[in-house]
Amino acid sequence: RACVSRTAAAGSRARAVAVRAEISYVMVKPDGVQRGLVGEIIGRFERKGFKLRALKLYQTPQEVAEEHYKDLSSKPFYKDLVQYILSGPVVSMVWEGDGVVASARKLIGATNPLASEPGTIRGDFAIQVGRNVIHGSDSPDNGDRETAAHALAARRALTTARRRALACARDRAFPAALWFPEGLVAWDQTISPWLKE
Ligand code: ADP
Repeated sequence: RACVSRTAAAGSRARAVAVRAEISYVMVKPDGVQRGLVGEIIGRFERKGFKLRALKLYQTPQEVAEEHYKDLSSKPFYKDLVQYILSGPVVSMVWEGDGVVASARKLIGATNPLASEPGTIRGDFAIQVGRNVIHGSDSPDNGDRETAAHALAARRALTTARRRALACARDRAFPAALWFPEGLVAWDQTISPWLKE
């Protein structure tokens, strides 16, 4: 009997690993946010049928932007690229579904918007490679890596918010609950399966 339950437990562990779905880290870059393209972009991913697992508007910390683009650190445009990502808030999203990484790249279009097909996001809304509106992971491994890196940043922001909330609660200025909208916590909770090895 013990043997059967151990086997069953091992089986359910195996299933837990197997059901970890493919995700892509998709980010509306600062120009996309400033130009009001967030709704249009989310709509395209929703209509395609992918599942939105997490979403957050935030200012990327410098070390996260550098980590995100570390593979391009030898490129002449690397410094400008990091500056561009830091130039305003981004919308960070985690989209889930079979084949989402490759499909998101198709929805997004070629790196250089002038070479992107009409009908793609960059093809419809951008003209400069240095202001190309959106990022999407180029492999499932990078989908996991980028999500984890941005989640860490989100967690740090949460810690800061919690510290402020507790300070305010102590001062009786605001009830702590006001500082804990669901969304602030949701990012960490919804992507937690991808943060575990
Ligand atoms: P993609 O974003 O399509 O995956 P890359 O990973 O090659 O493309 O590059 C990352 C980002 O670096 C691009 O989206 C673009 O913002 C920027 N970039 C790439 N090539 C250039 C370039 N020649 N000049 C300026 N910026 C560039």
